[in-house]
Amino acid sequence: MRERKGMDRRGFIRASAAGLAGAGATLAAGPVSAAATAGQAPGAPAAAAKVKSYRPLGRTGFKVSDIGIGTSQTFPTEVLKAALDAGVNYFDTGDGYGRGQAERSIGEAIKGRDRKSVFITTKIRFDGLADTAAVAAKLDQSLERLQTGYVDCLMLGPSTAAGVKNELYHQAMAEFKKAGKVLFGGVASHGPRVPGQGDPMEDIMLAAIEDGRFDVLLFVYNFLQKEPGEKILAAAAKANVGTTIMKSNPLGRYYDMKNRMAQMAKDGQPVDDRMRGAMAQMEEQIRQAEPFIRQHGLKTPAEIKAAALKFVLADRRVNTLNLAFNTFDDVQSLVGLSSAGLSGGEKGLLEAYERHLGSFYCRHACGRCEADCPNGVPVNTIMRFNHYFEAQGSEKYAMGEYAALETARADACRTCGGFCEKGCPYGVPVRTLLCLAHSQLTMC
Ligand code: SF4
Ligand code: SF4
Repeated sequence: MRERKGMDRRGFIRASAAGLAGAGATLAAGPVSAAATAGQAPGAPAAAAKVKSYRPLGRTGFKVSDIGIGTSQTFPTEVLKAALDAGVNYFDTGDGYGRGQAERSIGEAIKGRDRKSVFITTKIRFDGLADTAAVAAKLDQSLERLQTGYVDCLMLGPSTAAGVKNELYHQAMAEFKKAGKVLFGGVASHGPRVPGQGDPMEDIMLAAIEDGRFDVLLFVYNFLQKEPGEKILAAAAKANVGTTIMKSNPLGRYYDMKNRMAQMAKDGQPVDDRMRGAMAQMEEQIRQAEPFIRQHGLKTPAEIKAAALKFVLADRRVNTLNLAFNTFDDVQSLVGLSSAGLSGGEKGLLEAYERHLGSFYCRHACGRCEADCPNGVPVNTIMRFNHYFEAQGSEKYAMGEYAALETARADACRTCGGFCEKGCPYGVPVRTLLCLAHSQLTMC
């Protein structure tokens, strides 16, 4: 993975523009991949930063570190141990993440520690499971990988609001709680995977709160996507339900769109005049953002990343942020944000970013424009896969997920009139970003 040191102003703008191409990809502060840690010996010096704030996770009674770990991919075990040493005590994972490897890494990291000192949330896919015995078999596999006798929370991932009533989940949970294998229930959502086949994230979260049987929620909230999160946070606070946040940083990592465009042209792929026009518009928008960069004296994207995370942390209704810990540097920089507030200057910075570059972020869990696509392209899902590729370093996973899509893919966008763009209230150049995402996710 690429390391970006000594970035000049132009480089900053380009990196910021990947908020754009990464469709919400993380504007990484520095080296962020497992590859980047390859040269670091296990047991590298623990970060000096320590968690300073622990917040009650709703009615679970557990006090979680405000900085948590979200392992949608596999992180180095030694880095996870360093995060634990720094006081991080919340893990979010899933049985399918890294084909079980994410759970294994956590199991290795917590080995020998006081199990009660950490809160572990995992998820199981209920599709195709016929009865509670089948669910129990899946849970047992997770427990084995995690090297623990129980998980603190088992999350359901329904695609509809009605799905929070999933009887199999609730029957299994009753058995698991009785056996002491699961302590609490939860719900996770980032909106429908397929256009028209599911409810918005907000509806699912509010239905879960209303249902009353869930203790923890996992949803999207960031400074470019406030509204649904605000409603969920308000309802959760009222019901004393725990709130864990994903995609708290909507910014992008360096992504050279021009190179990708050039590669597409070199490979003989259609790059028509309309597409070229869209690219030129994006370049112009980037050029216009230069005064914003100068005004704030920004040198690296990391300066905005910290402000983006502080925005979410500053909301006391948020219990913990699920963040990616790829390197020891991440432990230092992310844990260093614990208990941080958002200054007036940083607030202004985020507002300016939104004005200048906010249109390049495809809001997670949105999907509003999808009804305008005659080809049924799952815009938001594809942008999310590109986020996994571009921001989280999960290239293989992202490409695999994209290849497994049973709907139309974004190759359809190359010859399309871009009907979806009028349906986007944020002015996202949807067609261009989808073409670039397709190129990246298929490596062609
Ligand atoms: S560019 Fe065309 S094919 Fe692609 S998502 Fe938009 S409307 Fe659908
Ligand atoms: S309406 Fe805009 S933000 Fe929403 S999914 Fe479409 S492109 Fe993304």
